[in-house]
Amino acid sequence: MGAEVIYGKQLATEIREDMKQEAAELREKGIIPGLTVVLIGDDPASLSYVRGKQKASEKIGLASNLIELPENTSEVELLDLIGQLNQDGEVHGILVQLPLPDHIDDQKVIEAIEPQKDVDGFHPINIGRMMTGQDTFYPCTPYGILVMLKRARIALEGRHVVIIGRSNLVGKPVGQLLLNEHATVTHCHSRTENLQHHTRHADIVIVAVGKPAFITGDDIKEGAVVIDVGVNRVDGKLTGDVDFDSVKEKASHVTPVPKGVGPMTITMLLSNTIQAAKSIHNVT
Ligand code: NAP
Repeated sequence: MGAEVIYGKQLATEIREDMKQEAAELREKGIIPGLTVVLIGDDPASLSYVRGKQKASEKIGLASNLIELPENTSEVELLDLIGQLNQDGEVHGILVQLPLPDHIDDQKVIEAIEPQKDVDGFHPINIGRMMTGQDTFYPCTPYGILVMLKRARIALEGRHVVIIGRSNLVGKPVGQLLLNEHATVTHCHSRTENLQHHTRHADIVIVAVGKPAFITGDDIKEGAVVIDVGVNRVDGKLTGDVDFDSVKEKASHVTPVPKGVGPMTITMLLSNTIQAAKSIHNVT
């Protein structure tokens, strides 16, 4: 029979319909949630990501602004721009597309963004709030995974989640969010010994490594839930970190790539932007 496939794309469409309504209600109050994306340089992958974010924002009625700057923009110039965006009343969310050129310190830039406008959820203040279980902007991919699990009615409390990956972008924050939901969380990484021992005991396996077919059906227990975060290109085709066919035979639920976690990531960015506009204008 095989696992139930959790299509993030479908969920994302449903959530975006609700957000369209929410954005329209804010417009009636004279508030147009505004997202400004800053892109340095002309990396085609980054450009395609930011265009996707812009298109999705406009579709649900947000004001979206893309600021494109040349590769040789200095750190001071970028920090000045962020300072101006922090003060701009029409800008509710600021996103600086990473990675930045080597001569700019990513962390300095992230920390320059006003935490109230940090819709990527990377500012240390927002990470600290997440760690201490407070309501805040959560990083978009981990937040998308959490919403996906909840919408698919996957129980989290008391269940053993094994996360492969410990990046600041995905692995660490998704672990924290699931710990906040009372899951028992194990993080695995490149130094983990006997990885299969861990994955075979997991109720939920989250794979965020960046290697195609890293996890197969042989690595999981019968009935496990498997979330594939990976984005890889093999022979020009998009693929995740999970060997979908063998995992589908054994798991109870699995997410596909494409149409899985990716669309949820952008959706949570839009959600954070609406929340930013509401909190800046004191709308409940
Ligand atoms: P990353 O920073 O490269 O982290 C990869 C993690 O995998 C690291 O923690 C690394 O361990 C671990 N790892 C590498 N080889 C391993 C091995 N042999 N055994 C166990 N662990 C191993 O990547 P990331 O930013 O977290 O992204 C992970 C994947 O998700 C990428 O494919 C990325 O493109 C994708 N992604 C997708 C979305 C989306 O919206 N769908 C968003 C973000 C990222 P160490 O820490 O020990 O090096």
